[in-house]
Amino acid sequence: MASFGHRLRRAGLKFASNAIATKTVPLSLARPIVSFTFDDFPRSAATVGADVLERHGARGTYYASGSLCGRTEDGIGYYGPEDLVSLHDRGHEIGSHTFGHTRTSTMTRTAIEEDVEKNHAFLKGILPGLVLEDFAYPFGDASPVSKLVLQRHYSSCRGTGEGLNVNRADLGLLKAVAPGEHQSGRGKVVEAIADAVERKGWLIFYTHDVIETPTRWGCSPQLLDEAVGHAVHSGAAVLTIREALAVISRRGEG
Ligand SMILES: [Zn+2]
Repeated sequence: MASFGHRLRRAGLKFASNAIATKTVPLSLARPIVSFTFDDFPRSAATVGADVLERHGARGTYYASGSLCGRTEDGIGYYGPEDLVSLHDRGHEIGSHTFGHTRTSTMTRTAIEEDVEKNHAFLKGILPGLVLEDFAYPFGDASPVSKLVLQRHYSSCRGTGEGLNVNRADLGLLKAVAPGEHQSGRGKVVEAIADAVERKGWLIFYTHDVIETPTRWGCSPQLLDEAVGHAVHSGAAVLTIREALAVISRRGEG
């Protein structure tokens, strides 16, 4: 468990990272947007999760850590090369989540740059021609330094700070919402989507495994199905992160 000093340092970095918002864009959306994203990512997100999305005609964004490819840890099987190929072919977005799945606040500028290259080389080794546009911070952990370095490399960087992106979006540290467990998650999902629709914001869900008895970071197939179905019927556009950014930048020009 992290010591008090560690937690204090993290809280300070979190505050400073949010305060340094040098990559913000106005969000004047004609139609609210909901995005579904998966971190790491467990194989079940690529199989069960992708099937749920596709049943509703939607696609997701999968943030991959190269070091997790083909691994099984704590009973969770992670994606393999064939999952990356399959997701990509079916129109899902592949994003980056560092190679080493490391807290970026603990890394030097050089280490971050090297890790970015390593993950890109690894993923492009499986999917030549892959363009990695979007990033998610492992553990949602950012520092002012890591944020400034990473937001130069990517169109967007997503954290785990809970909330709706509304009025202005910080593309260096996008807010997101975890659906949570099925019992409590259902109400939370419905509320978050209603809020996004009312305020015409960009709601980004993030999760990990999609299994019947999910880990505390995951989500059951039923809850994901309800969330995607609800989002589709809410009148929001259900888009990958890349597609959402294309809509947002078009609005910005007009
Ligand atoms: Zn992660």
